[in-house]
Amino acid sequence: MRYYSTRNKTEAVGFAAAALTGLAPDGGLFVPGEIPEYSRAVKSSLGSMSYQDIALETIKLYVEDDIPGVILEELVRAAYPFGSPLVGVGDRLVLELFHGPTAAFKDFGARFMARAFSYLRRGEDKPLRILVATSGDTGGAVADGFFGVEGISVTVLYPKGRVSPLQERQIAGLGGNISALAVQGSFDDCQRLVKAAFADAELRKRLELSSANSINIARLIPQAVYYAAAAGKAFAGKLDEDGPATPRKPNAAPAPAYRLQNTPITLCVPSGNFGNLTAGLYALKMGAPIKRFIAATNINRTVPDYLESGNYETRLSQATISNAMDVGAPSNFERMSAHFSWEQMRRIILGASVTDDDTRKTIKAVHDEYGYFLDPHSAVGWRAVDQLKSLKAFDDSPLAILATAHPAKFAETAENLTGPLPVPPSLKKAMERKAAALTISAELSALKEVLV
Ligand SMILES: *Cc1c(COP(=O)(O)O)cnc(C)c1O
Repeated sequence: MRYYSTRNKTEAVGFAAAALTGLAPDGGLFVPGEIPEYSRAVKSSLGSMSYQDIALETIKLYVEDDIPGVILEELVRAAYPFGSPLVGVGDRLVLELFHGPTAAFKDFGARFMARAFSYLRRGEDKPLRILVATSGDTGGAVADGFFGVEGISVTVLYPKGRVSPLQERQIAGLGGNISALAVQGSFDDCQRLVKAAFADAELRKRLELSSANSINIARLIPQAVYYAAAAGKAFAGKLDEDGPATPRKPNAAPAPAYRLQNTPITLCVPSGNFGNLTAGLYALKMGAPIKRFIAATNINRTVPDYLESGNYETRLSQATISNAMDVGAPSNFERMSAHFSWEQMRRIILGASVTDDDTRKTIKAVHDEYGYFLDPHSAVGWRAVDQLKSLKAFDDSPLAILATAHPAKFAETAENLTGPLPVPPSLKKAMERKAAALTISAELSALKEVLV
């Protein structure tokens, strides 16, 4: 498989180069020359395969020139001791993507990327130093994903005092090959510092630097897996049991859509930077039984507006309670439009935008009715479906909402609306850690001093 920059279709690189460089030299994003298709045998057995087996069959099509099958199998088995349960809640399905160590879907991408980097860098004597700026969620997933991975160390920069206590412990509580810098400034300062570090000749000579941000193709590809797994499961008429971290009332009716076997599913994706939805589009192109997508955003509605009007207008982001989706200029839009025209997108994606007020009402209503806890991001997805249903925008075929984080991650919002939340063991463990970060001023000289 060859990868091209979204801005230059003539020069191609392999998976290793695309993953390790992250951003193309011309500032574009790497995309596969063509999206591969599952074999007929895989397509027809998606509903009965394990998560790890679907991961293997999906990812190998993108990486086989650079990662041999036996190695990939090891990577995938180590990366995914957890899967993505599809459970029924009332009249719909929920695809729970929060069973990884940091309780958000970013674990799926980060854990594969970490292991792939480690393999692709084998035999290099200089260790790789990953720099990440985070506003909260990404830093935790990247730190956890790379924790203990050989030959790589990670430095996470976060705005001091502006992440939650849980997020701070996830970022700064691991130690080992993960170090944390609390920057006296904003998230934008953190991002500026990382960019300045990459542009600094002395640092680049001294250290082997790389990034792990969300536009990396190695984070995107493994996210196609849970789409294929969910679509295959629903097509086969199967559902998972809910676990102790996500109880429901015994009287929460099993979703009637569950009985509609052999019908492609509609998937509603709470979106910010649109990496998640782009991975879904890949799964659809690969042949997973997906009917269409719903792009659910908070009031940062750049993409729903584009779907409606055909004009793409980025804007400044506005703060909301679903803050991991506060993006006014989604970076993966460039990738979506490299593969699909506006007309094509309109045929397969419905857009909807949800206010904070409606998000809160939804968290409360779903808990009151079904005993099920939604985090603010997943509640945006739930509400988007309600809005489109009232417009009669789609039929009664099976429909699942992607639950992108466990509600306990956003307890300060959800708990007021639902009462005490069940806390998964991984988050309990993180809360017991002690955050140990070095505080630095928001200046390159300060960052350079601590990067040794
Ligand atoms: C990152 C994130 C999102 C947004 O995902 P994108 O791929 O950026 O669209 C949604 N929900 C949660 C909980 C997240 O952490």
